[in-house]
Amino acid sequence: SNAPVKVAVTGAAGQICYSLLFRIASGALLGPTQPVELRLLEITPALKALEGVVMELDDCAFPLLSSVEIGDDATQVFDGVNLAMLVGARPRSKGMERSDLLEANGAIFTAQGKALNDHAADDVKVLVTGNPANTNALIAMTNAPDIPHHRFNALTRLDHNRALTQVAQKAGVPVAEVTHMTIWGNHSATQYPDLFHTEISGRNAAEVIDDQAWVEQDFLPTVQKRGAAIIEARGASSAASAANATVEHMRDWVTGTPEGDWISMAVPSDGSYGVPEGLISSFPCTVTDGEYSIVQGLEIDDFSRGKIDATVAELAEERDAVRSLGLI
Ligand code: NDP
Repeated sequence: SNAPVKVAVTGAAGQICYSLLFRIASGALLGPTQPVELRLLEITPALKALEGVVMELDDCAFPLLSSVEIGDDATQVFDGVNLAMLVGARPRSKGMERSDLLEANGAIFTAQGKALNDHAADDVKVLVTGNPANTNALIAMTNAPDIPHHRFNALTRLDHNRALTQVAQKAGVPVAEVTHMTIWGNHSATQYPDLFHTEISGRNAAEVIDDQAWVEQDFLPTVQKRGAAIIEARGASSAASAANATVEHMRDWVTGTPEGDWISMAVPSDGSYGVPEGLISSFPCTVTDGEYSIVQGLEIDDFSRGKIDATVAELAEERDAVRSLGLI
């Protein structure tokens, strides 16, 4: 009676997916009664490693995992998928110019956008984790003209979660007491984690903390540079927390946000808060019945305005760069 939901994941032999796939298969994405069918995409040289991951999925004997298919052809892997988590991307390698990076990812995300357009289920939701996530999502969205734009999101939930914990630790409260966090803009070092609407046990966080120097010199750089700090400490990137954030974003997009709170999602702008229409930018969002809406009417002070404008300017530059490469 309970038909499996088809979940596509790309970059499936990579570090993030080594955590992500097991969370999805265990029920963390769609709950303890919803079977899932995994559709895993990799580049050809990574298929053998992916077979090893599938052996481990088999060895978990997850009751909710109805089947696993792997392949290197997006048109087959994306056939009929309801949810697509685009994790695989081309990392920046030494000596690579920015335009080379955009071009390499452009090739991946134009092809995947087209394949989703032609083969995914009508209700498909697409979440991009692979960097540069916002612009990769823009490329996929633009190359999928038959899929409504609002079905393309990019991940800023890890930044959101990092910010929640920094605030909780500063205030000495459990993280569940911190609500209404907002990440604005690009998933990059220019992102703006906004404390001015955040609440600690229902009270304004900026007022409770009352320490603007901490906000500017500690909080913002700690959240913005957290990825580099983890690489420095661990000798490898933040794969488990990125996987967790990917699960949480997609779960909330499907099942809804908690009453009386919001989350950060990078979504195609409708012009809200002066963000040019069409850019995929992070906003405070709520979700009801599988559809997100951007929280309206928040007051933006001059400090926040400057930070939002800077990160949005970077998104516009990235868009112009991929446009001049003919990718959108
Ligand atoms: P990871 O699984 O660690 O990362 C995958 C992507 O997620 C990268 O673009 C990475 O960005 C991004 N990312 C977003 N947030 C985070 C975060 N907080 N921490 C770390 N990464 C983050 O990379 P691997 O190299 O281990 O695996 C990538 C896999 O993707 C490879 O197996 C490769 O073969 C595959 N791939 C598949 C494609 C496909 O399916 N068609 C296309 C391209 C690659 P950043 O680079 O900035 O760290």
